[in-house]
Amino acid sequence: MRNSRFIMRSLFIAIAMSALVLAGCAGPQRAAVAPPDQYVDSHFHIANYAMQGVPLKELIDKYMGDKIARSVVFPLPLQQKWDPYEHYAGDKMPPNYYMGPKAGMYYYSFIDAVVAMDYLKLSAADKARLDPMIVGFNPMDEYGAQHIRRMLLIFPGVFAGIGEFSVHKEIVGDKIDDDTVKSIISSDPIPPDVTDVSRNTLYSPALKNIFNFAAESGLIVNLHSDVYRATVTYDGKVVSMSPEAPYTAGMKNLCAQCPKTTVYWAHTGLGRFVKPASNHLAVVSEILDACPNWNVDLSWDLVQTFIVNPQPGMPSLADWARFITKYQDRVLWGSDTVIYTRNKIDDKGNMVVGKQMPVADYLAVKDILKPLWDAVGPDVARKVKVDNHVRLFDAAKVKVRAWEAAHAKDDVWNLPPI
Ligand SMILES: [Zn+2]
Repeated sequence: MRNSRFIMRSLFIAIAMSALVLAGCAGPQRAAVAPPDQYVDSHFHIANYAMQGVPLKELIDKYMGDKIARSVVFPLPLQQKWDPYEHYAGDKMPPNYYMGPKAGMYYYSFIDAVVAMDYLKLSAADKARLDPMIVGFNPMDEYGAQHIRRMLLIFPGVFAGIGEFSVHKEIVGDKIDDDTVKSIISSDPIPPDVTDVSRNTLYSPALKNIFNFAAESGLIVNLHSDVYRATVTYDGKVVSMSPEAPYTAGMKNLCAQCPKTTVYWAHTGLGRFVKPASNHLAVVSEILDACPNWNVDLSWDLVQTFIVNPQPGMPSLADWARFITKYQDRVLWGSDTVIYTRNKIDDKGNMVVGKQMPVADYLAVKDILKPLWDAVGPDVARKVKVDNHVRLFDAAKVKVRAWEAAHAKDDVWNLPPI
């Protein structure tokens, strides 16, 4: 009797303790983490290059449902110009993707306000499932950090980070409506990653300023920068590829200049044209080893296919599994879905106008890396799919909310230069 009372008492204490633990985790930022088959999407685009997308409430209810516990919300920073003189696609459909039209692109800052205002309409439970990011700034502009600061001050309680924004990116880098570095520079040395046509450089003091503000405010950074130079024309013809000369020094210089900034590098610098060279994982490892606060995301269906189904000369699935096991606390999964599809011309020459992506297409991306999860085992897979995001983003949000509280009285009309 005495024994069973002791057991009952122990059981009651255990239940009470679990309830306390659960209550402690049930705050708005933790409610979303969930069963083992769920994912957290660390790389997701709510809008395309024409600012077409889906409402956040619909993203949660229709797309994420019970499969994606939590997601970042990045629009794209750049608007594709629809230039009437180009007569793109014979004027039959507007461009809404960067590859195809010849016309340039420009930073569209208002998209950050669109995201913030939609986010503020959500319930607390829905807000806890999203991590909105600021994108509408030019990373080569010393005023870029001012836009980020203004967004935090006007929309406190919303943002967790900045990005995805691009420094080096095939096609995109050449289409940004901006000065080339060489046309402006006079007394400073020319940065080593700059060519005659480069608009962006990893060595820009403006980029350093933005990274340092991210560290000060706690914002986590999603940086897209191709691992090596790829020159591709606006309509997708490859001019040159330089896998033998990765941007390792530029990346290491950036993190050395801003060591306190928490960064995750989008799709380890890969993309449609920038395919993994045989030395890819050695290059990424070298950068991660030099940059303790940097992480990487494994996103974009094209890139994920290189991982599970590598072409000759690319790292094998076993190589990737070894890399991910070694850096298991620094890798995040993402879909890199752009939720509004492209306007296209089909095989028969018919125009197909883009639309909100079918839910099944969005959810299909999460299954691509299954062979990788099998190779690394459930514990490492869980870190990449869920835990690393939750740890990094929960920490970022606490710091950003504290920065916003400390600066609540700052005058957005009269911000001192950073
Ligand atoms: Zn992306």
